[in-house]
Amino acid sequence: MLVDGGYGKQWNEMKASDWPSTYQSPFYPNIFAAGIAFAPPGSISKPHVTKNGTVITATAPRTGMAAGIIGRVVAFNIIDMIEGKAPSHYESMSEMPGACIASLGKSIWNGSASTILMYPVAPDYEKYPEYGRDLKVCDLEVGLAGAWIKRSLHTAFLYKMKGNLGWSMIPE
Ligand SMILES: Cc1cc2nc3c(=O)[nH]c(=O)nc-3n(C[C@H](O)[C@H](O)[C@H](O)COP(=O)(O)OP(=O)(O)OC[C@H]3O[C@@H](n4cnc5c(N)ncnc54)[C@H](O)[C@@H]3O)c2cc1C
Repeated sequence: MLVDGGYGKQWNEMKASDWPSTYQSPFYPNIFAAGIAFAPPGSISKPHVTKNGTVITATAPRTGMAAGIIGRVVAFNIIDMIEGKAPSHYESMSEMPGACIASLGKSIWNGSASTILMYPVAPDYEKYPEYGRDLKVCDLEVGLAGAWIKRSLHTAFLYKMKGNLGWSMIPE
């Protein structure tokens, strides 16, 4: 769904500020699109065409963490509107960090997972001219510790989602 992004630009014209930040429809103000539902304004890396003519335009990785952050922004903006105010919460994918743990085996002894950190998720070439990202923050590690973190997050997340005692103390 189209939201508050700067759509319709070529790759070289796109700026970090073109990424949506309130996720509100410009046509129907009472409709928001969170998580994977919003239309990205463009590719996150330079589009190219393979020698066979296949067009490759990488979309933003709208993973669980991004979906969670956006869901929170949208929820707060809906509260604003119920209270008669304009949406005052925003966070675009060119401002937010991304952390993703991809399981490669869940055993607590022999398991492994790939832990990926990226900031910002969508590139900001004005702030980070070389790669669009802060390379001091970006990292990828594969190992057993990742499997432990994945297990802990999984257990904590399900506990929180069930609304068990103290759920609100568990951070997003
Ligand atoms: C196999 C796989 C592995 C992944 N692994 C990771 C990972 O390790 N880490 C990570 O960060 N992210 C991971 N992701 C991505 C992550 O799961 C998604 O980015 C995230 O779930 C998106 O959340 P969402 O709320 O936007 O959409 P969803 O979680 O897809 O929620 C949309 C909901 O809307 C419901 N729905 C659809 N149509 C209607 C309708 N008409 N009426 C009512 N309800 C409707 C659907 O049933 C669904 O429950 C993975 C995704 C996949 C598929």
